Amino acid sequence: MRMNTLDRRGFLTFTGLAGAGMAGAGLAGLGLGTPNARAASLLSAPAEGDAHRGPCAIASGNCDPGVAKAYEMVMNGFDPADAVVAAVKFNEDDPNDQSVGLGGLPNEEGIVELDASVMHGPTHKAGSVASIRNIKNPAAVALEVLRKTDHVMIVGEGALKFALRMGFKEENLLTEKSRQAWVQWRANLNKDDKWFDDDQQIQPVGGKKVSAIEKSLMFTWGTVHCSALTPAGDMAACTSTSGLSWKIPGRIGDSPIVGAGMYCDNTVGCAGATGRGESMIVNCGSYAIVQNMERGMTPSEACAAFLKKLCDHTKEKHLLDAKGRPNFNVSVYALRKDGAYGGACIHPGGSYAIADGTAANGKNLRIVACPPLFND
Ligand code: ASP
Repeated sequence: MRMNTLDRRGFLTFTGLAGAGMAGAGLAGLGLGTPNARAASLLSAPAEGDAHRGPCAIASGNCDPGVAKAYEMVMNGFDPADAVVAAVKFNEDDPNDQSVGLGGLPNEEGIVELDASVMHGPTHKAGSVASIRNIKNPAAVALEVLRKTDHVMIVGEGALKFALRMGFKEENLLTEKSRQAWVQWRANLNKDDKWFDDDQQIQPVGGKKVSAIEKSLMFTWGTVHCSALTPAGDMAACTSTSGLSWKIPGRIGDSPIVGAGMYCDNTVGCAGATGRGESMIVNCGSYAIVQNMERGMTPSEACAAFLKKLCDHTKEKHLLDAKGRPNFNVSVYALRKDGAYGGACIHPGGSYAIADGTAANGKNLRIVACPPLFND
């Protein structure tokens, strides 16, 4: 992955925006000259995936082995919506993945609530469920909404009833590991309540000392996204999550919101996201990325330009670090109609998984680090 400084290619890329009503705006007009030269350099860097053409599947870095399954399915003639839903099912079914489906971290009351959406390029139809309880495969339920109803989104109690009617099995999604994490978070919330914090607990004689609560336990995000392109040029996108851990019951993130957590336009491309959902919602994130590609940006440029805007729109003090940058991460992924792909994240750490039949590692997928806007 190369991170060039702003070069001629960057200017050429953005002069391409003239047709999109930005003639004469240049980099300064886009807010890319200052103060964020880093974003500008990212936007001008040739990136992994720019030159790729043809069928493939791209996913968040945790979608292993799902992304390879999605690729295999589109190569075998399956509908792309079936392929992307099958991809995220691996994570949904995995009790050790605490960000999705079974074993997802619960809300503040200890109840797992899941969000998912899927969008089908050929019909431009979407299906979504939000805040659904007791069903471990919300993406498959979302696909039923897409295929069997004239609705797009079904939430809460209604989503559970719909899933049961479609033959899904109700089960407790709170694993022992996630229950313990919730209990620990709850106990450490307030030093003065009647629950002992980790450092106050009375240990059984000879017992193992409970380690201090990890910072990561305070707020945990995590999600799985997958987009796929068939040999015939059809596309689909899907995102599934248990959302923000310890959320207020009923909180819905970006994952089930069409245009926020995922979006697919069969004539342009797909996008999806993981990370702080509220920021994706208020910036119409996945839709914006697809729009950026429609204006001529590469998938990586489209992702980086969007994240730059997201950073500019992040103004609340509690969301900013000492340098005035978002104190959270968002990773975004994009797949263009012709098979070019890319991603970006705000801070280092994001990654995407790509399956295009070229990986020679026996897994049929490669994990690529998302270029970050900031080096930290
Ligand atoms: N985007 C998800 C949400 O906000 C969480 C995540 O991806 O980490 O619900």
